[in-house]
Amino acid sequence: MRGQDAVSVLKGVGEQREKRLHRLGIVTVEDLLTHYPREYKDRSEILKIADLPPDEPATFLAQIKEEGQNSRHGRLVYTRMKVYDETGAVGVLWYNQPYMKSSLKIGEWYLFSGRLQKKYGRTEVVSPECERIGENFAGGRILPVYPSVEGLSQKMLRNLMEEALKEMSGGMQEELPLWLRKEYHLAERNFAIENIHFPKTEQGFYDARKRLVFEELFLLQTALYQLKSTLEERGEGIRLKKKKALQDGETLLPFALTDAQKRVLAEIVQDMTSGKIMNRLVQGDVGSGKTAVALLAAYWTIQNGYQAAMMAPTEVLARQHAASFRDLLEPAGITVVLLTGSLTAKEKRERLAQVADGTAQMVIGTHAVIQKGVEFQKLGLAITDEQHRFGVRQRSTLAEKGENVHTLVMTATPIPRTLALILYGDLDISIIDELPPGRQKIDTSAVDSRYHPRIYAFIEKHVAAGRQAYVICPMIEENEKLEVQSVLEYTAELTEELPHCRVACVHGKMKAKEKQTIMDSFAAGEIDVLVSTTVVEVGINVPNATIMLIENAERFGLAQLHQLRGRVGRGAEKSYCILVSDTKTKVAKERMKTMTESEDGFVISEKDLKLRGPGEFFGIRQHGLPELKIADLCRDLPILKEAQAAAAELLRKDRNLEQMEHQPLKVRIAGYLDGKRLEM
Ligand code: ADP
Ligand code: MG
Repeated sequence: MRGQDAVSVLKGVGEQREKRLHRLGIVTVEDLLTHYPREYKDRSEILKIADLPPDEPATFLAQIKEEGQNSRHGRLVYTRMKVYDETGAVGVLWYNQPYMKSSLKIGEWYLFSGRLQKKYGRTEVVSPECERIGENFAGGRILPVYPSVEGLSQKMLRNLMEEALKEMSGGMQEELPLWLRKEYHLAERNFAIENIHFPKTEQGFYDARKRLVFEELFLLQTALYQLKSTLEERGEGIRLKKKKALQDGETLLPFALTDAQKRVLAEIVQDMTSGKIMNRLVQGDVGSGKTAVALLAAYWTIQNGYQAAMMAPTEVLARQHAASFRDLLEPAGITVVLLTGSLTAKEKRERLAQVADGTAQMVIGTHAVIQKGVEFQKLGLAITDEQHRFGVRQRSTLAEKGENVHTLVMTATPIPRTLALILYGDLDISIIDELPPGRQKIDTSAVDSRYHPRIYAFIEKHVAAGRQAYVICPMIEENEKLEVQSVLEYTAELTEELPHCRVACVHGKMKAKEKQTIMDSFAAGEIDVLVSTTVVEVGINVPNATIMLIENAERFGLAQLHQLRGRVGRGAEKSYCILVSDTKTKVAKERMKTMTESEDGFVISEKDLKLRGPGEFFGIRQHGLPELKIADLCRDLPILKEAQAAAAELLRKDRNLEQMEHQPLKVRIAGYLDGKRLEM
């Protein structure tokens, strides 16, 4: 078997399973083997009941002494049971699995894995996995947990991995040259891949992970360095003149620029008059006014006789931009043209002709603007909005639609400056770190669940005054069914607690249309309180919603909390964000404190970086940072630095990767930035 073989060569992969694997981006055996676990269940440490920590996943051995009891609560059946070891007893709870009552045999020992939680006044282990322990029980093991899709269970993925590893038997190609592995103390590739899936020892796991993280970051850095040097060699940049026109442009805006916007604009002007080709990233929280800055740069470019283009990730966003650019630019006599995938053939032909003959001065669109067949007469500025949604290659494709085109990319996701400097290796960075005046601060508080009665009264009061609220309950890891149950259950509870509110929920199992209907009625004010999990994208803007209540807030990343909070505070009324958490660890407290003290995405992301120490590996899911397959840009900063040094060293030694031992690398890097999205 070879790495490039289709996954269907593996036993047990039929047509349907193959389709599901494709949804995970797995086409070949190598793709499968580089589908790394997103976390691990540590079943190797077995605790005593008396030592079970609250709110943390744990594994313990316990004996069944009495039968459990089923009880019905609305649409749910609860099964409760007490289990024992020599240090004591603990309650166990399952939802809608009534058969658990009799499937566990009295007198037998079982291995339970779950979280001890305090809910509705009881402390019990909720929905544990459980496994009967045979006579030759040799201790638990560390199990990989993979990113997955419906219809592919963890067990199935684990079996496939085992099978693929066995079949490949160490035959994966090593791409890193020996000198590099020696110098940076990196494990061999096959060893690393085996041990990332099924670590044999702790050291083996760390070595494996280091190697794979290094490899990923090293390839990325090398590709970015190469891209940068090609960019730098492109030649002389277009020099814009007529600074007076830029001032005229400012008068088109219905507001005065903030100091931060002025500073960033000055940096752009500096680039665009210097004779070099601009490659600039503008970072700023949602609403900080990035688009306004881009619009001015475009206006100035157009006044200099060039065209400007802006690419947005979705059709909705592109339309929105086109509408606002038209409002501001058409009075100044500028023609704005929208290019999206949904145009009719005739419209498309007409608009492409306008782009080609230069009548379209400002071109706005989706990916449609970088397709073949889109020819500009004289493109001077290429803008990419929401940079993180595009690949590195795509933004350069837009710039390649003209000669020596200036590039401006914009992103709303704040990442710490140190990281940005490394990651956007090919870009200069500008930061808008100030919101336009008049925005209201969102009042954020962090409380524990004893405050629920007060929170409910607070919601009732605001709903009575005509406002609306979002309630977020956490996802239950890996179990969509349970997750739906827990959302339904919580919704039922809220319906009781909030008798004067219209409560509804959306969840991941709903049909798109059903979801849309509920969201629409929330937007129309027909629902007062909307309960959901974060996986449900509440892609609507409801300025009347002024409360964001987040349950089990400690389970979310800071970046995610920041984004959730951003859904309120969009209207004129004062808004509130309430974070509920019973976790009392120092880090959890610190995180909650950060949220209550800051509304600045950058401060929050810096803090996130500090609070995630290298110590906490097992069981941590990362949120909101680059979707690299294995590297975590917060935790792996030291490896990132090494990888960067190594990439520089490689290119110093062999600039065009011509040496024999660098051929496998060359092949890998050639395709590296194509399809790759640097999620940020
Ligand atoms: P971003 O793209 O950074 O999310 P936008 O440029 O879309 O932000 O601006 C968000 C909102 O703020 C828009 O309605 C815009 O008109 C407004 N805005 C931008 N800059 C200012 C400013 N300096 N003063 C007042 N309002 C502004
Ligand atoms: Mg924007």
